[in-house]
Amino acid sequence: MNRFSYHRADTIDDAVRALAADPAAKIIAGGTNLVDLMKYDVEKPSTLIDVTRIEALKGISETEDGGLRIGALVPNTTVAYDERVASRYPLLASAILAGATPQLRNAATTGGNLNQRTRCYYFNDVATPCNKREPGSGCSAIGGLNRIHAILGASEHCIATHPSDMCVGLAALGADVHVVGPDGERVIPFADYHRLPRDAPQRDNTLRLGEIVVSIVLPPDAASHGVHHSYLKLRDRLSYAFALVSVATALTMEGGTISSARIALGGVAHKPWRRQEAETALAGRAADEHSFAVAADLLLDGAQGHEHNAFKVELARRAVIRALGQAAAGTPQSQTDKRIA
Ligand SMILES: Cc1cc2nc3c(=O)[nH]c(=O)nc-3n(C[C@H](O)[C@H](O)[C@H](O)COP(=O)(O)OP(=O)(O)OC[C@H]3O[C@@H](n4cnc5c(N)ncnc54)[C@H](O)[C@@H]3O)c2cc1C
Ligand code: SF4
Repeated sequence: MNRFSYHRADTIDDAVRALAADPAAKIIAGGTNLVDLMKYDVEKPSTLIDVTRIEALKGISETEDGGLRIGALVPNTTVAYDERVASRYPLLASAILAGATPQLRNAATTGGNLNQRTRCYYFNDVATPCNKREPGSGCSAIGGLNRIHAILGASEHCIATHPSDMCVGLAALGADVHVVGPDGERVIPFADYHRLPRDAPQRDNTLRLGEIVVSIVLPPDAASHGVHHSYLKLRDRLSYAFALVSVATALTMEGGTISSARIALGGVAHKPWRRQEAETALAGRAADEHSFAVAADLLLDGAQGHEHNAFKVELARRAVIRALGQAAAGTPQSQTDKRIA
């Protein structure tokens, strides 16, 4: 591990100033991702800016228009078991509980989960070329081991996926990311927060120099998705494993007809994957297997597997159909076995 300095920030402005002054500095929150990467020499921050004492980044509160604001420092466990989240945004609670382990969810924060790095084997192994870790060095996953990699939105420079479960739920719910930087506050719609790799895979998101995430805001209209939702996560083991494919979906229903739909996929792209066409195609349609299959095909249009992950294309199609069926029937995939009494 490299030597680094430590700065405890007391306020958001203090953290932003320290981050803007040194492009090699990094924010540390729960540390469950960053510290591992520092031990592997993947991340070599000059300074760690500890934001864990900043009160303004804590807490969950109602917004004036009836949405919910979740501070960047709120632990994943606290979000998942918050009564307002569990009753009005159960899709988000379910997505969070599908991730990691109880101990990790206790330490992991909302801002850290959003900004966690890819789990690509080569990104984590400094002995191998990786454009995300070292721009211009090449992509070892293309032509290498690529079981966990992207089938949508990849580029010739990088086929990594974003590993978060929480973010798939937030993408489906249409959350906003509130950030503060040297030029003040701005709001980034969730769909625009993470980016596709294109020719700059070293950039995971659209944060500018010196900006930090201060909160996530859930929109009020998502509350109507309380009953008809599902987070279905398919992985190699039932616990302590990242998604091969996951589906977050929330529907509004009138009898057996879908009024509106939201669907996001995880484990398949450099960001949670949504396509408006797939959601529009479900509006006004009967909640049956044919409608679900049409939506799945639109969502996965252009999907392309690599040597070891071509199975994901059909797996994702079947997962979308199954998750939509669960949501329509009001029988969401259960994550209750993740709760510790
Ligand atoms: C064994 C293991 C299994 C896991 N399984 C899963 C899983 O199944 N599903 C899943 O979703 N996740 C999983 N995780 C990942 C876990 O969710 C993340 O490690 C965690 O959410 C990161 O949060 P943190 O607060 O610890 O972040 P940190 O490690 O402190 O930071 C992570 C990154 O976010 C940046 N950051 C932190 N806060 C902010 C902020 N406010 N603004 C801007 N940047 C910020 C940091 O600079 C750093 O780059 C797993 C992790 C481990 C170790
Ligand atoms: S897929 Fe991306 S993260 Fe993985 S080796 Fe290629 S460039 Fe690096």
